Amino acid sequence: MPITNAQYDEIMRRYDAKQLNNKRSSEKKTKEAYIKVPRLKEIDDAIASTSVASARQLLAGDSSAISELKQKLAAFRQERINLLKEYNFPENYFEPDYTCKDCKDTGFINGKQCHCFKQEVIDVVYSQSNIKKILSKENFSNFSLSYYSEDIIDPTTNLSAHALAEHAYENSIDFVKNFESSASNILFFGDTGVGKTFLSNCIAKALLDSGHSVIYFTSFQLFEVLSKGVFSRDSEAIAANKSIFDCDLLIIDDLGTELTNAFTNSQLFLCVNERLLRQKSTIISTNLGMRQILDTYSERTFSRISNNYSIFKLVGDDIRMKKRGQV
Ligand SMILES: [Zn+2]
Repeated sequence: MPITNAQYDEIMRRYDAKQLNNKRSSEKKTKEAYIKVPRLKEIDDAIASTSVASARQLLAGDSSAISELKQKLAAFRQERINLLKEYNFPENYFEPDYTCKDCKDTGFINGKQCHCFKQEVIDVVYSQSNIKKILSKENFSNFSLSYYSEDIIDPTTNLSAHALAEHAYENSIDFVKNFESSASNILFFGDTGVGKTFLSNCIAKALLDSGHSVIYFTSFQLFEVLSKGVFSRDSEAIAANKSIFDCDLLIIDDLGTELTNAFTNSQLFLCVNERLLRQKSTIISTNLGMRQILDTYSERTFSRISNNYSIFKLVGDDIRMKKRGQV
């Protein structure tokens, strides 16, 4: 995707900030270790000074002195390893907690952009920073089936709110587990506040954590982005918004809340269809039932969704109200 110089600079600033954070957290951990095991600091200082001495001898060409220093260094390193073991420090204790272990938060591997760079572009171009905050709260470790009642029975499926949620939850877990091997799609539908967005977010968080690129849009935002610039042809729309069509996961939240018209109809089909062709996964959440989707959008969009998406219904009380103790 073409990005402006300003956007590129912003991305590089983000990587710099990550590296600075890593450096700080690593220094903090080292300090803590030195307090716990003062001998560690002595060893590290000795390793540093022996390395310098060894470099000097190398320049002076004194090979016998070098081998002596090398032995010294090896002895210090071994003592360090033994000490860390004795005090139960994990082997990688001094390694920074990289956001991306593959490129060590530099954004590049052997001069080529790392996979995490793609997500940084998405975050900057489509201002996705908001969703990151939400994902720290809305993820699988915070998902609870206890908000779903056994007593509320959905008349269409004859299943309880709890049973439906459990089914959707288990399939969401499988969706993440099998993400690499099968490009599947999900449609969550049901009333407001029954956890459709929450489950989409759980999936988004899990996939972002495993290094996949994810774009989250409300349907309103999606059509807003797609309508920027006047596209005379689909191919131009695809080129201008390449990430939307080829990111690993696209989430379209709250489909049906946008103002629907011929443009949104054609763009929704383009999105759904293009991603199917590219075998890229999409999750749609909506208040609309299947019949309403057919009535609101085109027959061809409906058929793509009904043939290629796993469809999960959620029912129950508004969970947001429940959390506030109002139900
Ligand atoms: Zn990376």
